[in-house]
Amino acid sequence: MTKGTLLYEGKAKRVYETKDKDCFIVSYKTDATAFDGKKKGSIEGKDRVNNLMSARLFEVLEEKGIETHFVKVLEEHEMVVKRLEIIPVEVIVRNVAAGGMAKKLGLKEGTPLGKPVVEYCLKSDELSDPMINEDHIEVLELADKEEIQTIRKMALKINQVLKAFFLERELNLVDFKLEFGRYQGRVILGDEISPDTCRLWDLKSGERLDKDRFRRDLGAVEESYLEVLKRVTGMIN
Ligand code: 5GP
Repeated sequence: MTKGTLLYEGKAKRVYETKDKDCFIVSYKTDATAFDGKKKGSIEGKDRVNNLMSARLFEVLEEKGIETHFVKVLEEHEMVVKRLEIIPVEVIVRNVAAGGMAKKLGLKEGTPLGKPVVEYCLKSDELSDPMINEDHIEVLELADKEEIQTIRKMALKINQVLKAFFLERELNLVDFKLEFGRYQGRVILGDEISPDTCRLWDLKSGERLDKDRFRRDLGAVEESYLEVLKRVTGMIN
């Protein structure tokens, strides 16, 4: 399969058309941004880590009956995906207070939450991805009631599967962001699952092994991404 017209270029990925009208090629980039694009940089090898890690996790989720847009890995930094009609909502699931939630609610980062918390944000750079609720999603006609319930159920199931998967690899899944889309009338999982979109803390040391190392200038960014890839896929380098 070869890349056709470039359809879309985002902060972390390019999406290309293919000859197959039901498939796109996603090409991951090394570019890294944070704080609504105010902080810019690049993380060497991030394109490969995010692609291969997402591919493995999509496989794990499919094995557990969760439909994703993943079709196959094409190159180390590229995958073939199903062509989705993206629902422009970021779905965040949290197990531990950190980042935005810790700040907003005055909680100490690292405070365990009694149950997973699902949040929604409108995907809008212009508005800085404001938090919205299920009623907003409905009145903005981003998704209907039934789709919203499906998304919430899928997000919680994905959390259950991923939390256990990461735990076996001595990683604490603190929180993560998902995106969903429509495919042949069904809501399925899209986007990526990577250190860019998850907070992953080493189970023993509590060390952050995710994009917060870039956001907060903690150093060892590339090494941390590679460490996560190693634990997720068993790859040595
Ligand atoms: P927070 O709301 O605390 O900033 O983010 C919660 C979780 O969702 C974190 O794991 C973070 O990486 C992810 N997340 C939230 N918004 C975005 C986004 O716009 N881009 C990316 N890559 N991740 C996000």
